[in-house]
Amino acid sequence: MERHDPPPSPLEQHLSEQRPPEPPPSGAAPAVPLPWTVLKDDELLQKRICDLGVRIAGSELEGRIAQLYDELGAHGLSFRPACYLGDEWFSPAGAPAIAIPFYLAHPRLKTLEMHQMLEVEGGTPEWCQQLLRHESGHAIDHAYRFSARDDWHAVFGSPETEYSPETYQPRPYSKGFVRNLPNWYAQAHPDEDFAETFAVWLSLTPEQWREQYRGWKALEKLEYVHCLMEEAKNTPPKVKRGRRIYEASRLRRTLARYYTERRKLYAEDFPDFYDADLRVIFGNGEPNGESAAKVMRGNRPALVGSIVRWTGQHKYTVDMLVRKLIHRCQELKLTIPPPLDRARVLFELAAYLAAMVTNHLHTGRFKRFV
Ligand SMILES: [Zn+2]
Repeated sequence: MERHDPPPSPLEQHLSEQRPPEPPPSGAAPAVPLPWTVLKDDELLQKRICDLGVRIAGSELEGRIAQLYDELGAHGLSFRPACYLGDEWFSPAGAPAIAIPFYLAHPRLKTLEMHQMLEVEGGTPEWCQQLLRHESGHAIDHAYRFSARDDWHAVFGSPETEYSPETYQPRPYSKGFVRNLPNWYAQAHPDEDFAETFAVWLSLTPEQWREQYRGWKALEKLEYVHCLMEEAKNTPPKVKRGRRIYEASRLRRTLARYYTERRKLYAEDFPDFYDADLRVIFGNGEPNGESAAKVMRGNRPALVGSIVRWTGQHKYTVDMLVRKLIHRCQELKLTIPPPLDRARVLFELAAYLAAMVTNHLHTGRFKRFV
């Protein structure tokens, strides 16, 4: 995603302009001892993000960024987006740069992220590469200002479209959009469509994407991006640097506050459960029946895993939803109908929750930004 920030103070602006871009990662950095790595979660949470001292150099991100740069080079581009540690994945509006969440720079912080949010966005090599390619799409657009052009508008639409990635209504079967990140994210906004198209262009050879998207309208977008990149090969970027907003080394929030805010963002606006729906699934509660809440508790990991896999929603969000549902079943004292119906009940429950998550993705009550 792209992130905007209020204008900087003159001092901040000055400092930012003085600072040279972070050099591309290379070689092994000297290991800096970080005393907090041995702390338990609740002690670690009291630390401020700016005091963690995490860096890209020497972390696993170094190799991932090197791979991104290799891919750009293999596609003939000399453009290399500057990468820095921020509070989440984004590209600062107007800057040819990528912010990578700071927790990816240290295994101890990845573990904390997993404990707090139940998943680590970009925590695996493949996922990280998908996100890096996506954010490079925004960064190269910022560098060359492609999205200011009329021909870009004709292909992707107006970037002035209201930016509300949380309220888009994807058409899952549309062949007008490529697929890189989950949730048909290219459909969120013209800028996201471009970033996703660029990510696919970068991950494959022209032969591969022409084959994979043969017969799709999205192929026209890939061909257009291909032409733009031919131009970029022979032209220096218009914008060479920009302000690093939300840089981890300046975030004075404690980890505890950071996670409280994120969990609130992911969990807020949970829909009210419709008791009538629950009664359709469970019936009115047979006397002496097995507690619905208890059965669901036993199946929670599988239930949450399946819904996350097929909706692409944040695991924390889905887990909270399932927990809330379990609680409501307990309040209503719902029971599972006779044993033979148990499998049917679980299927219905999974389908119901997946539909709820998907509907709320459309209506914006669940949020997702990249
Ligand atoms: Zn994006």
